[in-house]
Amino acid sequence: MCGIVGYIGSREAYPVLIEGLSALEYRGYDSAGIAMVGTDGCRINKDKGKVDNLRKITSSCCMSGSTGIAHTRWATHGVPSLINAHPHTDSAGKIAMVHNGIIENYTSLKQKLAKESLEFTSDTDSEVLAQLIGKYYNGDLASAVRKALSEIEGTFGIAVVAADNPQVMVGARRGSPLVVGIGDDEFILASDSCAIVRHTKKVIYLKDNNIIELKPGDFSISTLDNRKISPRIHSIDWDPSVLAKGGFDHFMLKEIFEQPETVLNAMRGRLIQETGSARLDGLNLVLQELRQIDRIIFVACGTSWHAALAGEYMIEDIAGIPVEVEYASEFRYRNPIIDSNTLVFAISQSGETADTLAAMREAAHKGATVLGICNTVGSTIARESHGGVYLHAGPEIGVASTKAFTSQLTVLSMLTLLLGRMRRISHAEGTTIANALDQIPKQIKKILRQNKNIQEIAQIYHHHSNFIYLGRSYNFPTALEGALKLKEISYIHAEGYPAAEMKHGPIALIDTDMPCVVLALKDSVYDKIISNIQEINARGGKVIAIANEGDKEIENFAHHVIYIPKTIPMLSPLLSVIPLQLLAYHIAAFRGCEIDQPRNLAKSVTVE
Ligand code: GLU
Repeated sequence: MCGIVGYIGSREAYPVLIEGLSALEYRGYDSAGIAMVGTDGCRINKDKGKVDNLRKITSSCCMSGSTGIAHTRWATHGVPSLINAHPHTDSAGKIAMVHNGIIENYTSLKQKLAKESLEFTSDTDSEVLAQLIGKYYNGDLASAVRKALSEIEGTFGIAVVAADNPQVMVGARRGSPLVVGIGDDEFILASDSCAIVRHTKKVIYLKDNNIIELKPGDFSISTLDNRKISPRIHSIDWDPSVLAKGGFDHFMLKEIFEQPETVLNAMRGRLIQETGSARLDGLNLVLQELRQIDRIIFVACGTSWHAALAGEYMIEDIAGIPVEVEYASEFRYRNPIIDSNTLVFAISQSGETADTLAAMREAAHKGATVLGICNTVGSTIARESHGGVYLHAGPEIGVASTKAFTSQLTVLSMLTLLLGRMRRISHAEGTTIANALDQIPKQIKKILRQNKNIQEIAQIYHHHSNFIYLGRSYNFPTALEGALKLKEISYIHAEGYPAAEMKHGPIALIDTDMPCVVLALKDSVYDKIISNIQEINARGGKVIAIANEGDKEIENFAHHVIYIPKTIPMLSPLLSVIPLQLLAYHIAAFRGCEIDQPRNLAKSVTVE
């Protein structure tokens, strides 16, 4: 959450900063601001709302200079407003700072600083840190930042400039991501590489408690307790073209349509059809270690939690290993039981989700082997885990996750295959799964061709205020994910349930105004789900069924049917979620919602 960009180099900073903010806008979009430092001091411009508002009140000429910092905010402390927008300064205007994270002890620090006659102009926690840095600044910005941060509790990713010295910029992090792009004669400091990739592919991922001092043509990294660090330089492995909408109206739609390719990318070089197994080298575990596992715990949040739940169904069914799926935010504050044969997987698209990261650290602290399943290369979860699997889905810009979800399912299917083949499934059974997985990209493509048909259904139902999503077995997690997509982007109240649970409560909600999306695939629970549909019909509810091609019977019970190709039950969520993503998208579009940047949400939840 919150996007930070900083530039120091030989060019005009403004275009890099404003474009960088646009690329990071998915991280937060309630206000934005820029501070530019030149020989004439520091100029700050900020505005409420999106980066485009800031763009309108600024321009290259009023913001000229080669050193600057910028921010797009996702408010935690203080309403979205002009005064709370970053950059923040100290009372004397000696420094300007942008911050991502939460200063947990800001109340006590604020009281202390107020007694020293420092005047606060915002309601944010961040301003306290700006005041502290200003208080300690005496010509050496890095020392002032170091000193101020020693008094801070909480999380931060910051970029700081000094009004009297355009030749220096300081960044530091704990808990919130920061990446440094190394260009020719220039550095770009940012929350993620989306703001950097157009300028350079060479990056350093700062680690927690690292501080970087940037000067034109020179940089040094140290720890907050002043030990020098020799960083590793990484290369960004994706192309800037993925940051464009490519002819689609929204990133979300583009990302839905990318899924045949992204699912294939997740399997590439990993799925071994001949042996009916998978190779996941990144796990960094020898086969012997994998054989010894007697329990798996998935920790995740939101959509990733739904993927984890589907993972539980697969692994228990095929590999016979007990699996628990935990909300990371609960796990981190419980006292979970973990032993040396428990494998803990942290699942997170961004690899920066604060709760998931904390849960992963808690599990590691208790001696578990922790592995990451994430999309962002070099992210904190990827770095801090003992090993893991990347999704290789490319940057996901739409705030509502789509392609990352199907890539997570693909990785979990391969993990299932690997563990299953070691334990209880035969070569023939493994080959059946591998072959079915190999067909998935083509089958997704086929579902995407029904976009128009799904749009028509969306048009009929977009005025409704409530939806129920029902599924059983492998498609219960899909029902949860379908409901979440609708909530996130259309603001319609939607609930996902295991279909049989309906009669234990939610059935009270069914009336002629209640559309029910039912996952009714031809599997072992098909007849049961047909009974559930009958129960809805008996109460006047409207049924939109997701069914398998060739199932004509379902048309007798459902008001609308969206057909998907048949696959093995374990892989069915990879297909059944596609129409649900499209349905949510089109309903939100008919309602005129801000699809890529839904209200109150932001991508990469780096605060608790
Ligand atoms: N706590 C800061 C604020 O509310 C930064 C928020 C964030 O990083 O999301 O302004």
